[in-house]
Amino acid sequence: MASFSSLKTDVFSREQRSQHYKSNVLGLNAYERHKKFMGDYIRYYGIQTTMPSDSNYPLKTDQDTLRETYRFIRSEEDDLERSWEQRLAKRYHDKLFKEYCIADMSRHKENKVGLRWRSEKEVTSGKGQFICGNKSCSEEEDLHSYEVNFNYKEAGELKQALVKLRVCPRCAHKLNYKKERERKRQLRREEKENQKRRRHEDECDHHFDSQVQDEDHDKGTRTRRSKERRRTVRKLKSRIYKDERFANSKDS
Ligand SMILES: [Zn+2]
Repeated sequence: MASFSSLKTDVFSREQRSQHYKSNVLGLNAYERHKKFMGDYIRYYGIQTTMPSDSNYPLKTDQDTLRETYRFIRSEEDDLERSWEQRLAKRYHDKLFKEYCIADMSRHKENKVGLRWRSEKEVTSGKGQFICGNKSCSEEEDLHSYEVNFNYKEAGELKQALVKLRVCPRCAHKLNYKKERERKRQLRREEKENQKRRRHEDECDHHFDSQVQDEDHDKGTRTRRSKERRRTVRKLKSRIYKDERFANSKDS
C-alpha cells in the first residue's frame, strides 16, 4: 500500500502538471504547441548531430554505410543485427520522426513520387506538418493530410507502407496526377457519350414529330371527307322525305 508521503507527492506532481498545462499549453493552437514542444526539446536535450565525427573506418565513410544499411521501415531482423553499421543505421533511423513524410514530386507526371521520413531539422521547423510536405514547396496555407500507399524495393525486397503526407492543394494535384488525369478522361468520355445519346434522342423526337404531323394531316383529311359524306346523306334524306310528303299530299 502506498505511504501517505508518496500519495502526497503524487497528488502534488499531478497538480503541478495540471497547472503547467493550464498556464503553458492550454489555449495554444497546433503550431504554437509544436513550437513550444520543439523549443523545450532543444532546451532540455539539444539537437545531436546525425553523423558521428569519429572517422575510424577508413574503408567506408558513414555516408556509405548509411546508404547500404538504411531502411525506410526497419524490420525486427534489421534491428537484431548488432554490427556497428546496423547500430549507426538504427541511430539514424530513430532520429527521423515517423508521423509525416517528405515527398519528391519532380517526376509526378510519370506517376513516380519519392518518399522519405523527415529529418530532425525538418521535424523542428515543421516541414511536412505546417509547411507543405513536397520537398520543393514552402506553402503553409490550406494543407491537407493524405495517406499514401508506398510500395518500394529495398535490399532486393519489395516492401509496402501506409504513410502520411501533408500537402497544399497544388501539390495534392501532383500527388494524384495520374488519378486526376484518369478521372478527367473518364468525365470527357461520359460527356461525349451523353452528347451522342442526346443527339440520337433528338433525332428520334424529330422523326416521331414528323410522323405525327403526317398522321394528323391524314386524320384531318379523313374528318373533312366524312363530314362532307354526312352532309350529302342528310341532303339526300331530306329530299326523299320531301318527295314522300309531296306524293302523300297528291294521293289525299
Ligand atoms: Zn505544396
